[in-house]
Amino acid sequence: MTISVTILGTGNPLPDPARAGAATLVQAGESRLLVDAGRAVTMRLAAAGVLPPMLDAVLLTHLHSDHICDLNDVITTQWIMSFEPTPLRIYGPPGTAAMVEALLAMLALDVRYRIDHHGDLTWEPMVEVHELDAPTELTIGDATVAVRSTDHRPVEPSVGFRIGHDDAVVAIAGDTIPCVGLDELCAGADVYVQTVLRSDLVTQVPSERFQDILDYHSTVEQAAETAQRAGVSTMVCTHYVPGKAPGDDEGWRSLAAAHFDGDIVLAEDLTVVTCG
Ligand SMILES: [Zn+2]
Ligand SMILES: [Zn+2]
Repeated sequence: MTISVTILGTGNPLPDPARAGAATLVQAGESRLLVDAGRAVTMRLAAAGVLPPMLDAVLLTHLHSDHICDLNDVITTQWIMSFEPTPLRIYGPPGTAAMVEALLAMLALDVRYRIDHHGDLTWEPMVEVHELDAPTELTIGDATVAVRSTDHRPVEPSVGFRIGHDDAVVAIAGDTIPCVGLDELCAGADVYVQTVLRSDLVTQVPSERFQDILDYHSTVEQAAETAQRAGVSTMVCTHYVPGKAPGDDEGWRSLAAAHFDGDIVLAEDLTVVTCG
């Protein structure tokens, strides 16, 4: 196994007792990358056997709250569980530095309380932010990371990640409609993780605010078309909108299977997919 992908949270912005928020753990060789940090991310990381100090980097697809709302918990927990000053590396689109700065301001009192209380904790949280100017390529430990722009407008900029190690490649798309950048991320990938919605269900909800989400997410059919066009082996659906009801797997799967003849995984929290 060269790359292991753990879908930490499969929920959408609405609270769901069974689904954490958007977050995916990618273990490439010896390196551990966290993509997005939604609701309850540190709980799901712990369930996957990974504590925040074990992360090599946090990658953010965009700055919507459902993808970053527990980043502060990752920062705090990485800090208080480290026994020597250790920077947490965070990569994200432009705007990430200001957002992290504001999180650190929010945490300032807690940081002071803990430093005052613990004799061996003499440093503040160390965060190293890298803003990404897509398209760009990175190397993080054992992983190569290609960054491409996605289309989640009016949320701009947004990016997706193509993470490689040895011969294995996984594409972590984030929220996006089909676009050139997404096709580049997915080309020939072993695994493609996509946030998806069901337009047939969303259109039945009598709420203007809910209808608004239709124009900036991939439907499950569009995700399947992207997977087919890019020639990926396995498509993984997550971030279900509306939340996937128990017993409704076939409804989601059949819509995807009509457009994609590879493997389709309907992730639950902590579903693991491996490749390579
Ligand atoms: Zn979003
Ligand atoms: Zn989202």
